[in-house]
Amino acid sequence: MIYDVIIIGSGPGGYVCAIRCGQLGLKTAMIEKYDALGGTCLNVGCIPSKAVLESSEHYHNAKEKFAAHGIHLDNLQINLSEMIAHKADVVKKTGDGVKYLMRKNKVDVFYGVGSFLSATKIRVTAVDGKQTDLETVRVVIATGSKPSSLPGVTIDKKRIISSTEALVLQEVPKHLIVIGGGVIGMELGSVYARIGAKVTVVEYMEQILATMDKSLGKELQKPLSKLGFSFHFNHKVTGATNQGDKVVVTAENKAGEQVSFEGDYCLMAIGRKPYTAGLNMEAIGIAIEKGGRIAVDENFRTNVANIYAIGDVIRGPMLAHKASEEGVYVAEQFAGLRPHLNYLSIPNIVYTWPEVASVGHTEEELIANGVDYKIGSFPFTANARARMNMDTAGFIKVLVHSQTDEILGIHMIGPRVADIVGEAALAMYDRCTASGVANVVHGHPTFYESLKEACLVATGKGAIHF
Ligand code: FAD
Repeated sequence: MIYDVIIIGSGPGGYVCAIRCGQLGLKTAMIEKYDALGGTCLNVGCIPSKAVLESSEHYHNAKEKFAAHGIHLDNLQINLSEMIAHKADVVKKTGDGVKYLMRKNKVDVFYGVGSFLSATKIRVTAVDGKQTDLETVRVVIATGSKPSSLPGVTIDKKRIISSTEALVLQEVPKHLIVIGGGVIGMELGSVYARIGAKVTVVEYMEQILATMDKSLGKELQKPLSKLGFSFHFNHKVTGATNQGDKVVVTAENKAGEQVSFEGDYCLMAIGRKPYTAGLNMEAIGIAIEKGGRIAVDENFRTNVANIYAIGDVIRGPMLAHKASEEGVYVAEQFAGLRPHLNYLSIPNIVYTWPEVASVGHTEEELIANGVDYKIGSFPFTANARARMNMDTAGFIKVLVHSQTDEILGIHMIGPRVADIVGEAALAMYDRCTASGVANVVHGHPTFYESLKEACLVATGKGAIHF
């Protein structure tokens, strides 16, 4: 039998592509090297990290906020192994859901490493060495990414860990040193800070969340500092050593001096790199670009005509929903449809508390491109719902074209902005104006009415409640 499509990798890029291919009537197979489906996102990324963020946030709120609501608890405790077991249960049930969806959409799943024999023949090598050769018209590579490290730092998975090990620790670190002030470091640092760890962040740049609109990282630093984080910016990490019961991280500061940090765990969180090992791409000459990413055109086609690539293994933000949308795009293209994907409307979210979310252009990009823009900003201190929830940190900032009133970017930090960004993404996708969003009736009292208020400010009418 010859498949219409073989997808290598079962992450949110691969499995969503497989579902859409199945829905469109294409004979589809998906290959996954692990025995669990769902890739990084489901097994060691989005889902488990949000599960432990949620658990640790409940604990933190019970400890720090409940009393102000008149709720008094005695003998409050956190049980790390139960928290990790809850996370494992969520992962298992979600993974079972993906398996069900494969059956429902008639996708054949093969477990083992997929590698190219030719552009149309793929060999699957199972853990027990058994080989199965498959034939196909098209291939989609969706093999994702792996954690990166730095010269001088070896992730030993014991005391020097990546996010994967941070999700299964057996004890709460006394002092967690986080290398890198990006999303993963801030999220997992928050988990352990909330349940008692001292957290030290060592970052090369001059602030956290350096790739997002700069105002966001600066604002997030304040609540994280209150939580017990300490920050060391402009530090270039030069090494990390496991010394038995402690880790020593060395770095060079801005003045060129050598400094060191001592903790019991070190989380390497500087980012991720594309993963293509085992694919045997050399056999068919698939082109790779800078950083090891597979080169693709605007339709996700590689330099080999019938082979496509999507998700973390290609250019663009390493996000699950970006990978999934690319999966849908290629599937629909295979079925002769004319899909559309708007990268400017892809939200970027940090699930700390307060949450951080962003869509569209940053203010720094607008300045660099000489765009004439206006800002409308609204603080959560002026939002009634935020006050009753005691969640007044943060703001919503809307960037608008000065002449046309078109929304160019929306950046927010505050309670539940991970959900509010949905409206912002729709506004970006439909190229809404600030007046347009300001005209929409928003429910009261809600967090999301702050977006309407920020748009009112951007139009020049001014906010109602500030
Ligand atoms: P992956 O999910 O990495 O899946 C690739 C799959 O391919 C893997 O299962 C791998 O085993 C398999 N594979 C590789 N090579 C082969 C081969 N030769 N044969 C067979 N199978 C192979 N993104 C968000 O949008 N939201 C979040 O909240 C979020 N949180 C994150 C938290 C953490 C701690 C981490 C690490 C990442 C997080 N991400 C988040 C990023 C997200 O997980 C990735 O962007 C997403 O998983 C990429 O999807 P993908 O399909 O491209 O690849």
